[in-house]
Amino acid sequence: MGTPLPEKGIPMLKRTINSNLLGRCRSTLLKVGNAGTSVRAGIVLTLLLALLASLRCASKPQPVHQARVTPKAPAARVHWNRSPLIPTGFAPLPLGSIKPQGWLRQQLQTQADGLSGHLDEFWPDLGPNSGWLGGIGESWERGPYFLDGLVPLAYLLEDPRLIAKVKKWVNWTLENQRPDGAIGPDKSRGKFQHSWQAEDWWPNMVMLKVLTQYHEATDDPRVIPLMQRYFDYHLKYAAQRPLIEWASYRWAEELLSIYWLYNRTGEPRLLELARALHPQAFDWKSHFANFSYKEKIQKKDASLKTHVVNNAMALKSSAVWGLLSGDESDKKAIYKMLEVMDQYHGQANGLHAGDEHYAGRDPSQGSELCSVVEAMFSFEQLIAILGDPSFGDRWERIAFNALPATFKPDMWAHQYDQQVNQVLCSVLPGRNWTTNGPDSNIFGLEPNFGCCTANMHQGWPKFASHLWMATPDQGLVAVAYAPSRVDAYVRGGVEVAIIEETEYPFREGIQFTVYPASPVTFPLLLRIPTWAEGATLTVAESQESDVKPGTFHKIAREWKPGDKVRLVVPMKPRITRHYRNSVVVERGPLAFALKVGEDWKKIKGEEPHADWEVHPTTPWNYGLEIDAVNPSTSFSVEQRPVGEAPFSPEGAPVMLRVKARRLPAWKLVAGSAGPMPMSPVPSKEPEETVTLIPYGSTNLRVTAFPEILPLGP
Ligand SMILES: [Zn+2]
Repeated sequence: MGTPLPEKGIPMLKRTINSNLLGRCRSTLLKVGNAGTSVRAGIVLTLLLALLASLRCASKPQPVHQARVTPKAPAARVHWNRSPLIPTGFAPLPLGSIKPQGWLRQQLQTQADGLSGHLDEFWPDLGPNSGWLGGIGESWERGPYFLDGLVPLAYLLEDPRLIAKVKKWVNWTLENQRPDGAIGPDKSRGKFQHSWQAEDWWPNMVMLKVLTQYHEATDDPRVIPLMQRYFDYHLKYAAQRPLIEWASYRWAEELLSIYWLYNRTGEPRLLELARALHPQAFDWKSHFANFSYKEKIQKKDASLKTHVVNNAMALKSSAVWGLLSGDESDKKAIYKMLEVMDQYHGQANGLHAGDEHYAGRDPSQGSELCSVVEAMFSFEQLIAILGDPSFGDRWERIAFNALPATFKPDMWAHQYDQQVNQVLCSVLPGRNWTTNGPDSNIFGLEPNFGCCTANMHQGWPKFASHLWMATPDQGLVAVAYAPSRVDAYVRGGVEVAIIEETEYPFREGIQFTVYPASPVTFPLLLRIPTWAEGATLTVAESQESDVKPGTFHKIAREWKPGDKVRLVVPMKPRITRHYRNSVVVERGPLAFALKVGEDWKKIKGEEPHADWEVHPTTPWNYGLEIDAVNPSTSFSVEQRPVGEAPFSPEGAPVMLRVKARRLPAWKLVAGSAGPMPMSPVPSKEPEETVTLIPYGSTNLRVTAFPEILPLGP
């Protein structure tokens, strides 16, 4: 009889099975499991063998594809811009072409098992009385917001339960278009917070995004005729009922759907509508060219143009309009936008601060969850339009840091506002937000306001569905990295599957195996991140030269089934400078933050969808001792298996250890880390070693640290 397996071995085994990262490891484990189910000794032996297998697999990743992979015909073909629309750098692939694998699939499953897969079962705004299901309840944006994430989540996971939910909502819209072409809730019946919302074009813009994704996944023949009738209706009433309020700031959402349809039907009336809407839209290009909001604004100055979510959506607006205007300065306006927004409101998590209006660079200010998912969607569009690899860096930074950090790890609760330095999540009047309420940084069902509760679902699914894009020369480009499989058509209409195996962003290695239906020559482009100094790329055993950070590296060759490409992106810890000369520690695309002990206090609601405060149980007011000349030597790196919950403090797959000293004068003020001292700062406190984990794995954290002034000899 063998010794019982130590307790801690079990979760590790479970993690390895569930991680589904290394296909061969997984199948080995499952096979062993089937062989030993009869007697207890057999079970113990099985577990030991499996543990050994898992250890071997953990130490040396082995690729899947011993068996040949057969490419699947993609769900739909790629539609490039039709003239007179300007050609884009890349084109997104139809929903369903990319399937998440490994940790990314696990993350989407966590999402489906949390609020996203269940919210409509108990949240009245998405209940049977929703105006978007024919009821007289909430009839503005919440139904479409929810679907904008649920549609890709359901089809990426191929989950029948979620697909049934999608169909219920989408069918209602498809079956209830009015004779004049209007869609959505009956404006005379529904519940609106403000009377103007009944005449608002904005929520329909979100539903159009839902329908385009749904069509790509299903090819439902009802979608295109409905959109044609709807846009005719909008054109007819465009002058009489112009874009107002939110719609005029968010009009690029409708442009995207107009172009989507134009590229399929070529009807000139669609572009006529786009041109008719342009004068009704807020001029974001001028707003950023003459930017006057250079610090945290006063409450009295808050307006729709200072609103953080509108600004996150606006990132794409000029570039999207530029595709029709043909004006290069429209297409390129994004660079000026980012320059001023980074300078005055940029944060270390890749976001711009807004709680919920322009909030400056202090890391104790917040950023709203809607701005996380909308900024991600903007960068997904910007990468396609401009083909600029730097947008891939920015997109990953938000996706791997800001997005996971603002959810409870089981995705049953979320914040309204997250902070880069977030040391207490509690209901507290008098917090330093520009306009938000006292409960904005707790983890809950609808802290502050329910927009994020409805809108947050699009983050991970759209990240997964945009990892790969088509190139104009009939190849494929990896614009961001995560374990996935893509099936697409390449040059000559040949079907190809590419399996991407990786534990990126936690690990440096990414392996691609290419399976064309028959040998075919096409370009494969890989984004080399700007931070990836010393990146190496091996193609079918031979090393590529000239692999430059901040570019798309192009491999043009004849591909045969099973050809392998291996990219290694070195992840040396590095530092960047932020507010008041503070230091932020980074490794690869991840920012790192102090691991703070957490006490979760339930304050309201029923589990699993309760509201929680999070209180610190360990000190947070540290400054870091780093070698500013050679920062990477200041850190020791520890790697742990990438398990079921990498974005949780206990599941963090990477830890950095660094020397630090307390700063007793740096104290809590109004529930947040108080004014940050200008670095470097002296400290006479004893030297300690502290642990940093990925920003996205934290719930409480310090990310922007004062730097400790080195003591004299
Ligand atoms: Zn929101």
